Amino acid sequence: MIDLRSDTVTLPSDAMRRQMAEAEVGDDVYGDDPTVAALEADGARLSGKAAALFFPSGTQANLVALLTHCQRGEEYIVGQHAHNYRFEAGGAAVLGSIQPQPLEADADGTLPLDKVAAAIKPDDFHFARTRLLCLENTHNGKVLPLAYLQQAWQFSRDHKLSLHIDGARVFNAAVALNVPLTDISQYCDTLTICLSKGLGAPVGSLLCGGEDYIRQAKRWRKMVGGGMRQSGILAAAGRYALEHNVQRLREDHDNAQWLGQQLGALGVEIMAPGAQTNMLFIRQSPELAAKLGPWMLGHDINIASGTVTRLVTHLNISRQDLEKVVRIWREFLHHHGELTGAALTGVYFQ
Ligand SMILES: *Cc1c(COP(=O)(O)O)cnc(C)c1O
Repeated sequence: MIDLRSDTVTLPSDAMRRQMAEAEVGDDVYGDDPTVAALEADGARLSGKAAALFFPSGTQANLVALLTHCQRGEEYIVGQHAHNYRFEAGGAAVLGSIQPQPLEADADGTLPLDKVAAAIKPDDFHFARTRLLCLENTHNGKVLPLAYLQQAWQFSRDHKLSLHIDGARVFNAAVALNVPLTDISQYCDTLTICLSKGLGAPVGSLLCGGEDYIRQAKRWRKMVGGGMRQSGILAAAGRYALEHNVQRLREDHDNAQWLGQQLGALGVEIMAPGAQTNMLFIRQSPELAAKLGPWMLGHDINIASGTVTRLVTHLNISRQDLEKVVRIWREFLHHHGELTGAALTGVYFQ
């Protein structure tokens, strides 16, 4: 199966599984697991923060990040389409009594700082206390510019807000910018990183931050059930991912670019600004959207077909796989009479 729905579908490689099988483990709730400790040290070193904490999921890492930054009755400012507002089941509100203040992001994935400034609540008992600014990097595959991050960081200092980056795919951003992670993470107080997306580990995220912050986060992690025992088995996969699967993200980015060019040449509407890091968004009619998914599945290609369709490249997708995707897509458009003229004769490849 060629699965383009998400980079969460990546499977652990044989080498990763071997490293998991051979991991030295202990009870991490007692602080006895050397592999978890080593992974957390990796996370701290790579992010340039004093400490890091290993979580079973990115959702839990983001939840604990919010619980640690904000008390009951406080507020975080966040993108309207950000994962830690929209896709985490309202956890901050339900479990933390933390009020989200969602804002529409600009097309480049940044939150305009004038709008953030306007959303900060006055110091008055009518309002929740605004405590935290959350950015997402990458956001829908888009890399937040370093100059913006620097401005947001200065802004957060000026307004006495903490700044959290949901960096589920922050290594995609670092690789796209060709900079070390610290060039990005220097502009935040805390950072979450997913090991289980394009990096290919089966499970796991890291929350990176200051010593005292991470000490408090550990209590919240315990409270929400994230204290794990011989989790070195999982941490070993994360360590493998950080060592072997970061620089190769470049291949995924190149593949997304290539796929965008090929589908564009078939007349598929590629949404602006085109492929970003490992993601590509296309637009199609509801009629085609309903037919494309089953057609692709019939050829062992899994895409989440809709009027807006996200296509995600990752370490289990090769250029050869994408050649097949383009071929089958072309046949689909031809079959449905959508492929005519130049696109029919001009762009042809095996
Ligand atoms: C995937 C993702 C998360 C965390 O997701 P989990 O599936 O819980 O690991 C958080 N933020 C963003 C932006 C994500 O894409």
